[in-house]
Amino acid sequence: MKEIGILPCSGACNVGSLSNKAVVNTLEEKENTDFVCALGLPLGIEGIIKNGKSSDGYIALNGCKVRCATKALMSAGIPVNEEIVITERYDIEKNKNFRSEEKLDEMIEDLKNNVDQFQKN
Ligand code: SF4
Repeated sequence: MKEIGILPCSGACNVGSLSNKAVVNTLEEKENTDFVCALGLPLGIEGIIKNGKSSDGYIALNGCKVRCATKALMSAGIPVNEEIVITERYDIEKNKNFRSEEKLDEMIEDLKNNVDQFQKN
């Protein structure tokens, strides 16, 4: 079965925090998924880049249109198979409510479906 790396932007806001929660929950439920560290890639941390490149495909989960998760993958030359921007896809305003769980279940379901789709092909 193919392994898919998922990268949340983990930003300091509601949607960044949601990206992290969505990925953690998805990893718990889906086999052959890997949590890719967003910060280590652009910093050039060797072990994180090596680990980050070990998957067969990648999903970037961005809180907002700045798309830090996508850019982090691209900075390490890792191709992005699926890009999600939470503010746009789920129509959520960016704010400082770090505890928000707005539409979290929907995000987890979508991520799980993305993983299924990728692993099927
Ligand atoms: S994508 Fe948006 S929410 Fe996520 S870290 Fe970047 S600026 Fe913050």
